Amino acid sequence: MREQLPIPVTVCTRCYVYNGNNSLIGYPCGIMIDGKRCKGTWGSALNRDDWKECRSCHATNYTCDSCNGEGWEYIGKYIQD
Ligand SMILES: [Zn+2]
Ligand SMILES: [Zn+2]
Repeated sequence: MREQLPIPVTVCTRCYVYNGNNSLIGYPCGIMIDGKRCKGTWGSALNRDDWKECRSCHATNYTCDSCNGEGWEYIGKYIQD
């Protein structure tokens, strides 16, 4: 089995960008989207249950189109539908 990509630890509560740096948790996201700064916050997503493997690459392909190379999909509490 190939080694899996690391699971991110934080997700923006608004734009759902992932990050593996847990020191961001609680800070504003601030990523620029269409020329505007995201007003979301980096939320804590430290549980393994917050994430599921990408169906296409099973979290092994950092060039995967389906997950943008993240390998993981956030399925935790910040998702609102
Ligand atoms: Zn954001
Ligand atoms: Zn993938």
